[in-house]
Amino acid sequence: MSEPIPVDSHAAAVEIPGRILNELCSHALETRPEECCGLVAGVEGDRFRHVYRCRNTMTLQHQNDPVAYPRDARQAYYMSEVDTLRVLEEVESRGEAVTAVYHSHVATGVYLSAMDQGFADHELFPFPTAAQIVLAVGANTIDRVLAAGIFERDAIGQFRGRPVEAPL
Ligand SMILES: [Zn+2]
Repeated sequence: MSEPIPVDSHAAAVEIPGRILNELCSHALETRPEECCGLVAGVEGDRFRHVYRCRNTMTLQHQNDPVAYPRDARQAYYMSEVDTLRVLEEVESRGEAVTAVYHSHVATGVYLSAMDQGFADHELFPFPTAAQIVLAVGANTIDRVLAAGIFERDAIGQFRGRPVEAPL
């Protein structure tokens, strides 16, 4: 198993438009205590233009096959394949590309877990070069989104974590 990849707090932050960041945070808060997941699409020079929510079907996977899927949607995500295909069609019809995959962590923190890396590196994963955005939310309903990070591949294909910020 791979080690979890942390956010390097000394690395330069990646700017994500406030409107997009707000949409991601809203999704994470609405689905809590389950993890949310989805896709972000854009074009070169405007990478983060649209957010597409996808359903997290991990609880269903877990109920159908608890050996293969030991966790439910509170501790993991499985992006609905139906939703992924639907989004992909819409993104392509707009002349855009999927630039990032996002999901949330509930009551833990921002890092790319071994499972998250396994998902991104899986041979059937349709967006191998996309960035991975992770949002951390608290477990209590009064909590807000605590932190966000973005994980992008370096020259040798390893994910590196950087902080996220909205431009002023
Ligand atoms: Zn994760």
